[in-house]
Amino acid sequence: MAAGAFSAPDPAPPAWSLEQQLAALREALPAGSRLLAVSKGHPAASLRQLAALGQRSFGESRLQEAIAKQAELADLGALDWHFIGRLQANKARAVLRQFGTIHSVDSLELAERLARIAAEEGLAPAVFLQVKLRVDPNKTGLSAPELRQLWPRLQGLAPLRIVGLMTMAPQGLSRAESQALFGECAALARELGLAELSMGMSGDWPEAAAAGSTWVRIGSGLFGPKPCQL
Ligand SMILES: *Cc1c(COP(=O)(O)O)cnc(C)c1O
Repeated sequence: MAAGAFSAPDPAPPAWSLEQQLAALREALPAGSRLLAVSKGHPAASLRQLAALGQRSFGESRLQEAIAKQAELADLGALDWHFIGRLQANKARAVLRQFGTIHSVDSLELAERLARIAAEEGLAPAVFLQVKLRVDPNKTGLSAPELRQLWPRLQGLAPLRIVGLMTMAPQGLSRAESQALFGECAALARELGLAELSMGMSGDWPEAAAAGSTWVRIGSGLFGPKPCQL
């Protein structure tokens, strides 16, 4: 700072602009990768702002929070709601009623339960099977051998529409390691004839998109840091 009688105050950090972040992500994402706006922890007003800009697909991981936002945004008409959180068996019916797509189906038991309830409810949800291709105590998911073994039974679970695989990279992978992991997930989806891949979050979506992700799930990189930690 130059010597002087007055020093300028530090400029305030620029306000986070949802519009600019959305535009930047749209610009950066390759054509085949769609943006799932992960809105957990963010207020309905932010979703409303994004919806006005044409973002219709939102990911939530807590049922009660999602129900409240869906009610608040009911005037916007149909939005495309994706459930991405850990799904407890006793919430399956409510999740099916509120969400057209579920990204976190991580066991045969859960898939069977969802299929039974979806049939009762007259629903045909799109489902991603969550896979775990690396050791990671913080995450659930089917291993590749488990998935291959269960695949004939999973395929028979109408009215579920199994559209793809979802995975998350463990913390601390290098960019090259994440890209290798996402590439393995893409190869597994191809092997099973599944077209969709839910891969990539704020910290690793470029690697996921490069590996063929069709849905990147972006929270903080779009909405900014969370107002409250969830
Ligand atoms: C929260 C969450 C995201 C988004 O995480 P960010 O790092 O904020 O982009 C993506 N996927 C799942 C399953 C999540 O729970």
